[in-house]
Amino acid sequence: MANGGAIKDFAVVGGGIAGLAIAEMLQRSGASVVLLEKNQLLCAEASAEQQGWFHTGALYTALPNNFFCRTMVGNLDDLVDYYGGFPQMNLRVDKHISTTSRDGWFSNRTNFYVYTSRQGVSWAWKLPWAVALRRAKQRMSWFETLDASRSLSHQLGFGSKPLKYVMHSSALGLNLDHVAFALKSRDRAMNTRLIATDLLRSFLASGGEVKTQALVQSLDQGSVTVKLDGGEQPTRIAARHTILATGKDTTAFEANTKVFISPLLVVYPALTDLNFVRMSPHMDQTINHICHRINGLEYSLIGNAVYHDARHTSPEVQDKVRANMLAMAKKVFGEFDARSTDLFFGYKTEVSSSSFIRNYLYHIIDRGHYTLTLPGKFSLCFSLAANVCRHFGIEPVKAVRLKDDASVEAMLQEPMHSRMARRLAEKHHPRS
Ligand SMILES: Cc1cc2nc3c(=O)[nH]c(=O)nc-3n(C[C@H](O)[C@H](O)[C@H](O)COP(=O)(O)OP(=O)(O)OC[C@H]3O[C@@H](n4cnc5c(N)ncnc54)[C@H](O)[C@@H]3O)c2cc1C
Repeated sequence: MANGGAIKDFAVVGGGIAGLAIAEMLQRSGASVVLLEKNQLLCAEASAEQQGWFHTGALYTALPNNFFCRTMVGNLDDLVDYYGGFPQMNLRVDKHISTTSRDGWFSNRTNFYVYTSRQGVSWAWKLPWAVALRRAKQRMSWFETLDASRSLSHQLGFGSKPLKYVMHSSALGLNLDHVAFALKSRDRAMNTRLIATDLLRSFLASGGEVKTQALVQSLDQGSVTVKLDGGEQPTRIAARHTILATGKDTTAFEANTKVFISPLLVVYPALTDLNFVRMSPHMDQTINHICHRINGLEYSLIGNAVYHDARHTSPEVQDKVRANMLAMAKKVFGEFDARSTDLFFGYKTEVSSSSFIRNYLYHIIDRGHYTLTLPGKFSLCFSLAANVCRHFGIEPVKAVRLKDDASVEAMLQEPMHSRMARRLAEKHHPRS
């Protein structure tokens, strides 16, 4: 077996957002890292098939347990602390969280939470939903009073606060049935391609090594065995630590993971420029909308809260999901031309032992000769990376350098939704 060069501190397996963010933070903080990706491009799988919603944690204030919210808020702290050196990281923190520019990692427009009234829910849910609505109002008001100039995660402690920031859906101009109230959140759309490109520019500038078309076949103590494209023989790459960030392929190494799929509907041109989630206790009636502005195109990206076990998704199931998604979108947005839509499925990988409550959180799990990581969300890559560093006793470094080379972007896959929107625009609205 061939030997793949000098020993590295870390071999990071998987070049999605989790692997890229972890590799970048470790390398920037003084470790030597090789990032191994089986595809030709980075961020070509789940990280290219997501909605681009940056979560601050406010969405999870409605849950009885504040663990989710605390994790998201901690992620904001890590983002502000360790990513402020990136010129395009435009989230700024003073008394509140805001953006400094229209273009950058984050959109300058916030997302609204629209809560279904009790009228719109089934009998069994009327009482629990009434409790959830009350809690959502109180905790969201509290969330909004967090002083972001101090460490956000240390200010947690849900208490009753005045019901500020609550508005009615009519103020949004949305035509939605049975709305109890709407709340303005600090969540916003994110430009995932820009974020990934910047992370890669930093990784390369600080001396990180990327190997694409490198399929990792086995994980051994102190090395990984890789099949490099074009190579006859597998190559052994020596590394003191191995980090697994393999998304849905984690099932090849770990019996303890499950993969789910969920649909995303692209509509060009955009149906509205308002970003919102319409929340209901009924998952099939929970729908969200993000208006993306990418490559000069403005289009809608619509998601729902229904997940299917990826092992049981026949073409029939996919057709049913597509029909339900279109029906729900038409209910919320009114009639639109179905020809200017396209649908794809995103993949979500979870630790199956906690599938009872879908885990939207990141995981860092030691398995002896490797460390398993799952981000839960694209949004959480910042805390995931900082905490992997801490996990290995490395203090994350704040200063960043960026490789100033236009070719870096070409190493990353364009998100599925912007590719689809471009195709829809070319097909149905060709420029004369
Ligand atoms: C419908 C949907 C919408 C979503 N929307 C959002 C959203 O709006 N906001 C948000 O924050 N999150 C969202 N998510 C979650 C987000 O997409 C994922 O949490 C995140 O992208 C996962 O990143 P990852 O790096 O773990 O996985 P991936 O991007 O899949 O990366 C894993 C990589 O490992 C590589 N790999 C696998 N096996 C090997 C091997 N043996 N050797 C070498 N390489 C290997 C793969 O090729 C792949 O590139 C959404 C998820 C779904 C399903």
